[in-house]
Amino acid sequence: LRRKQPTADDLVNGILEGNKTMLSRAITLIESTNANHLEKANKVIADCLPHANKSVRIGITGVPGVGKSTFIEAFGKHLTEKGHKVAVLAVDPSSSLSHGSILGDKTRMEELVKDENAYIRPSASGDTLGGVARKTRESIILCEACGFDVIIIETVGVGQSETAVHSMVDFFLLLKIAGAGDELQGIKRGIMEMADLIVINKADGDNIKKAKLAKTEFNRALHLFPAKNSGWQPKVTTCSAITKDGIDDVWKITSDYFNLAKSNNYFEAKRAEQNRYWLTETINEQLKNSFYSQEGIAPLLKQYQEAVQNHELSPFIAAQTLLKKYFENLER
Ligand code: GDP
Repeated sequence: LRRKQPTADDLVNGILEGNKTMLSRAITLIESTNANHLEKANKVIADCLPHANKSVRIGITGVPGVGKSTFIEAFGKHLTEKGHKVAVLAVDPSSSLSHGSILGDKTRMEELVKDENAYIRPSASGDTLGGVARKTRESIILCEACGFDVIIIETVGVGQSETAVHSMVDFFLLLKIAGAGDELQGIKRGIMEMADLIVINKADGDNIKKAKLAKTEFNRALHLFPAKNSGWQPKVTTCSAITKDGIDDVWKITSDYFNLAKSNNYFEAKRAEQNRYWLTETINEQLKNSFYSQEGIAPLLKQYQEAVQNHELSPFIAAQTLLKKYFENLER
């Protein structure tokens, strides 16, 4: 059954009224790969932009099993009880491969899904991390225009997706558990360095002691990193997403950060820098896509790859020839 398609204005008006159904339909439009949808999607984003930006954006990462969805549910409920409106988005570039996202999956946050002041959206699918991330970033704008004042972006703690999420949030939270070695948790130094807060989850029952020990150790490790431009000293805290112990502390620390970053103007400066970054990123991404998808480039590239592999041709000359071909085709 085909529903009548809402116009861009219908979508924008619905979003500004706080209508979650319209929000969902607008995000679907943004995620669409159909070229005909692009113009409408761009209009929705442009019209929402003046109403966006009034939020705090929090990135949450951690390896599978660390308790991300359980934590986000407890944290999100804590925030809606305080009167906030919470949107949860996800960046999971693997979801297009696994056909169905493991992040932002509504069955994993049953309580929060039922909460009228919460909105949960699974990851967009896509071929490239850049594409998935861009769609999420644009979805943030729509969520903000819809009145959500806390935006949580969830990502899984493996690979490049943290960097992409880090570049679209104000505050980065790393979820860990005590006792598992860093190798086991797949935590690279770079990810630790990005964290504004490390939360050691599952600090309940027999685990409390271990969690406290881990807190001391992570605190020590964090002090070895260079100071952050924000002037913020990253913190470590423990919590249990099941008993909810320590969840309020997570929000207290997060709020402390926002107070500091807003008072020293780092908050605004970082968002401005992120906008510049995404401008460049999008240009790079689209130029690359345009090049690699141009008719005739792929077979030629394959040919040249073989030639450079066999030392028959210099990689630089090969690249120049291919680019020349690309620009010539564009002119036609
Ligand atoms: P995710 O893969 O990171 O999203 O992890 P989940 O939220 O699905 O949690 C993985 C498992 O850990 C589930 O069985 C949860 O019930 C459990 N879990 C999550 N948080 C806690 C916690 O604070 N304490 C305990 N004891 N178990 C937890």
